[in-house]
Amino acid sequence: MTQAATLYIIATPIGNLEDMTYRAVRILGEVDLIAAEDTRHSLKLLNHFGISKPLTSYFDHNQQLKGERILNALRQGKSVALISDAGTPCVSDPGYQLVRDAVAEQIRVIPLPGSCAAITALSASGLPSDTFTFAGFPPSRQGKRRTFLTGMATLPGTLILYEAPHRLLQTLQDVKELLGERHIIVARELTKIYEEFIRGTVSEVMRSLDPEAIRGEVALLIAPGEQPEPEHESLESVLARLMADPTLSLRDCAREAATITGISRSEAYQEALRLKNNRVSA
Ligand code: SAM
Repeated sequence: MTQAATLYIIATPIGNLEDMTYRAVRILGEVDLIAAEDTRHSLKLLNHFGISKPLTSYFDHNQQLKGERILNALRQGKSVALISDAGTPCVSDPGYQLVRDAVAEQIRVIPLPGSCAAITALSASGLPSDTFTFAGFPPSRQGKRRTFLTGMATLPGTLILYEAPHRLLQTLQDVKELLGERHIIVARELTKIYEEFIRGTVSEVMRSLDPEAIRGEVALLIAPGEQPEPEHESLESVLARLMADPTLSLRDCAREAATITGISRSEAYQEALRLKNNRVSA
């Protein structure tokens, strides 16, 4: 059973209806109210799974008004599910403000995990997945887009973007100029019949795309750029720092400095002696 006065954030498929979870079907069938980005669109999904529940719209331009009504329903003890057109609500989709306001009122928020294009693309990309940045849609205006991409240039890890198909080539051109010839992946129509992963350098991928025929939904993954080498502290400054600690012997300092800098213990010890003698004679 659903819990009273609870907001359920429910992921729905990004293409393939078989990606709907059992739990999502059950909870959607049990809540008092479903808030959907586009009620007509979501009705198809709900009909497919035999779910018939009161529906209300919640989208970018009515968030303020509808958010208050949804919060009222929650305050009255109703259970409400939020879904978007596809994937996980709040991920480049409406939901953040509603969740923020519900949390502020200590209304229980329960997430139901499921499809998300960014994570689906990353999982099959072959790009580093230990660290990544999801930055949503780049701005559509070129000036703002270039500023946005410049801000991403030195981030560690894989960069994941969403992009409209008709803007993809322009964005790739900007990526090439601002981030360089990185390895990228265009993940298209994930989980659908024409699912495709186009891999290569930015130029290779651009060459393989037919400008007249880029269709469907697209996630863009960009491999990390070269990270600047971390600056190494010099042996002298490591030793000076260690030798300021009166509880450490000269040998202790040399051993620790050797570990930190990768220099041999004997070399570190010679340097420690030299520093000590300099201090004495100064
Ligand atoms: N909330 C969704 C999620 O969890 O992924 C994202 C919604 S956002 C409005 C829609 C964008 O997500 C599309 O323009 C595309 O960039 C990406 N996307 C959604 N479905 C996709 C799919 N099947 N294949 C590739 N990208 C997809």
